[in-house]
Amino acid sequence: MTDLAFQCECGELTGTVINASPKLGNHMICYCDDCQRFARYLGHEEKWLDEWGGTDIYQVPPANIRIDKGAENLRCVRVKPKGIYRFYASCCRTPIANSPSYKMPLAGIPTPILQRKNKKELIGPVTHTVMGSFAKGSPPSKPHPKFSFGSVVKVLTFLLRNTLKGTNTPTPFFTPDGKAVSPPEKIADKR
Ligand SMILES: [Zn+2]
Ligand SMILES: [Zn+2]
Repeated sequence: MTDLAFQCECGELTGTVINASPKLGNHMICYCDDCQRFARYLGHEEKWLDEWGGTDIYQVPPANIRIDKGAENLRCVRVKPKGIYRFYASCCRTPIANSPSYKMPLAGIPTPILQRKNKKELIGPVTHTVMGSFAKGSPPSKPHPKFSFGSVVKVLTFLLRNTLKGTNTPTPFFTPDGKAVSPPEKIADKR
């Protein structure tokens, strides 16, 4: 088991995925419009999206994520009013993680911010590509238009296992009353 460092582009915010391994989490690509709008909101979306608009994500339990430095730079945004909480580093507008809520033991880290040369071995291959109906063009991975049965089973199994373990906490992203550590911003533009 190996710790996997991540950091924002400018290096003000650094963190660690504790005990990263293919078994710890799910490695997926999401093509949804929500992920795409988040990347556009941050700017330089080409850094965070593949050429078909996909976001490469490693989903892990929040308890396995530690912010080592610069946590005060964490900001939150919700693309839709009740949407997923998306966290980024305000110093350089780097996406850091997405999480459905305080109670859900799942946070997705965009893999471009992971640092180790052997990160591909640590997080394993992409197992599912989802929400392909929003993809631009035809990604070679042939994503499911929404969520394949296999991807649903994988995420539900992950959620069940981690709910039993209580790994939604400790979390760097929410306070114990369930609020995001930074009040969620709204995205006004309809791009
Ligand atoms: Zn930064
Ligand atoms: Zn998405």
